[in-house]
Amino acid sequence: MRYDVDVVVAGAGPTGLMLAAELRLAGARTLVVERLSEPVEFSKALGMHSRSVEILEMRGQAQDFLDGASTLKGGNFASLGVPLQFQDFDTRHPYVLFIPQVRTEQLLTRRVLELGAELRRGHALSALAQDEESVTVQITGPDGPYEVRSRYLVGCDGGGSTVRKLLDVDFPGQEPHMFAVIADAKFSEELPRGEGMGPMRPYGVMRHDLRAWFAAFPLEPDVYRATIAFFDRPYADRRAPITEEDVRAALREVAGSDLGMHDVQWLSRLTDTSRQAERYRSGRVLLAGDACHIHLPAGGQGLNLGFQDAFNLGWKLGAVVAGTAPDGLLDTYEAERYPVAQGVLRNTRAQAVLIDPDPRYEGLRELMIELLHLPETNRYLAGLVSALDLRYDIPGEHPLVGRRVPDLSLATAEGERRLSEYFHGARGVLLTLPSAPDVADLATGWKGRVDVVAASEVREPYAPEPEVSALLMRPDGYVCWAGPAAGGQEGLTEALHTWFGAPAA
Ligand SMILES: Cc1cc2nc3c(=O)[nH]c(=O)nc-3n(C[C@H](O)[C@H](O)[C@H](O)COP(=O)(O)OP(=O)(O)OC[C@H]3O[C@@H](n4cnc5c(N)ncnc54)[C@H](O)[C@@H]3O)c2cc1C
Repeated sequence: MRYDVDVVVAGAGPTGLMLAAELRLAGARTLVVERLSEPVEFSKALGMHSRSVEILEMRGQAQDFLDGASTLKGGNFASLGVPLQFQDFDTRHPYVLFIPQVRTEQLLTRRVLELGAELRRGHALSALAQDEESVTVQITGPDGPYEVRSRYLVGCDGGGSTVRKLLDVDFPGQEPHMFAVIADAKFSEELPRGEGMGPMRPYGVMRHDLRAWFAAFPLEPDVYRATIAFFDRPYADRRAPITEEDVRAALREVAGSDLGMHDVQWLSRLTDTSRQAERYRSGRVLLAGDACHIHLPAGGQGLNLGFQDAFNLGWKLGAVVAGTAPDGLLDTYEAERYPVAQGVLRNTRAQAVLIDPDPRYEGLRELMIELLHLPETNRYLAGLVSALDLRYDIPGEHPLVGRRVPDLSLATAEGERRLSEYFHGARGVLLTLPSAPDVADLATGWKGRVDVVAASEVREPYAPEPEVSALLMRPDGYVCWAGPAAGGQEGLTEALHTWFGAPAA
C-alpha cells in the first residue's frame, strides 16, 4: 500500500500543532491541513496551566513560552474571589502562565515546521473514507480539491469538527444557560470596580436583579477583555454575527453605559454549552481537543485539555506508525483521556452555575467560598484544574503508577541534570537509583524506545513519594512501573511489553 503520508492532522490549532510535533518526534510523516489561510490575530485562550508548561519543559520548549510572558500566582475557580493555590505542588511552575493563544500557536507552528511536518494553510478537509489499511481524505485547497492517502487521520478541527461529523460520532451534552458577548477593546470611561468577580476580573458590575454581569480584565495597557453575560436569556439569533452594537447594548443594560468603548479589536459570543464526543476513535480516525469536548472556558482549561490529549496520543500513534506499538496501545488514548475531559465538563458545569448571579444561588456561592478557603478543598480543585493531580488508570500496585513525576534534580555521572531533559526525544525513560543496580539490564531489548538514566541520588527540592529504587516512565512522563525503595524488578518486564511492545530480537 502506498501512503502519501503516515498521519493527516486536520486543524492547526494548539491541539493539532502539539500533536504534529509529537508525531514528528516519533518519526511519522505528518501533514497538517488548516482551513484558514492566515493564522488568526486574536486569542481565545490566555492562560496556560502548570502541567502544560511541564510538558513543554519535557520537550525543551518551556523557555520560549516563558520568555516575555507574565505569571499569575493564583488560579480562578468560578470567579469567587478566592485564588486557587499552586505553591504547595511539587512543580517548578506553580502558576498560571499568561500567554495569548496567538503566541502559543506561533511558537508551536515554528516548532512543527522545524521538526519537518508539512503545514498547508488554506486547505480544508471536506470528506473522508477509510478501509482496513488506510484513510483517504479529500482536501479543498486554493487550487481545488485533491486527495491524500494516509495510515491515520486525527481531527483536531475544533468544536464544530468536520471530521467528527463525517464520522457521524454523536456529540451529546448540555444546552447553554449562559449567553455572553465578549469584546477586546479600549474604554474612555473609567471601568467600574465591581463586586463578586474576584481578583482575576477586577472590573465589573454584578446585577442580581437582571441575572447578568459585566466583568473585565486588562489584556495590555489600555486594552481590556470585557464580557457581558446573561443567564437563561438566549440570543435573539444565535447564528447572527456579533456586532459592536450588540456589545454596547449589553453594556448599557448591565453597566448603565457603553463605558466609551472604542478601538474594538475582537468580538465574540460565548455560551456554556458543554458536549463530549461519544467516542474518540473510529477505526483509523481519531479526535482530539475541542473536536471531542467543548465547555465553558472557566478556569482556562480547554487549550490545556487539548494540549494534553495531543501529548497522550502523539507517542502512541507514533509507535503504531513505527510498527513498535503493542496491541491495544492506541485504545488507551480514549480510555485515559475520556474521563479527564468528563471531569473538566463536570467542573465547568459547576462553575457555570456558580457564576449565575441568580439570588437563589447565593447560599451555594457563599458555601463554596468557605470551602475554597479550606486548604484541602483549595488543593483538590487546584490539582484538578491544573491537571497536576491527574492519575491515569495504569495497571500496577505502586501509588506512583499512573502519576506524573516532578522535574527531579538528579545527580548523574554527567553532573546534575533535570529529569525533564531526558524526555526531549519523546522516548520512555527508565530512571535507576543505586538501590536498583540490575534493573537497567532488563531494558536492553527496548533500546531506542526507552532510555536508561542512572542517577546516584535525587536532590532537593523534589523527591518521589514514597521513595523508589527505579521508575519507568512513558514518553508523556507518566509512571508505568515503580520499583520499591529496597529494590526489586517484579513487573518491570511486563510493563515494558505493555507500553513499549516486543523487545528487539
Ligand atoms: C473566550 C475564550 C477564552 C478561553 N480561554 C482559555 C484559557 O484561558 N485557557 C484554556 O486552556 N482554554 C481557553 N479557551 C479554550 C481554548 O481556546 C480552546 O479549547 C482551544 O482553542 C482548543 O484548541 P483546538 O486546537 O482543539 O481547537 P481550535 O483552536 O478550535 O483549532 C481548530 C483548528 O481547526 C481548523 N479547522 C476547522 N475545520 C477544519 C477543516 N475542515 N479542515 C482543516 N482545518 C479545519 C480551524 O480553522 C482551527 O484553526 C478559551 C476559549 C474561549 C472561547
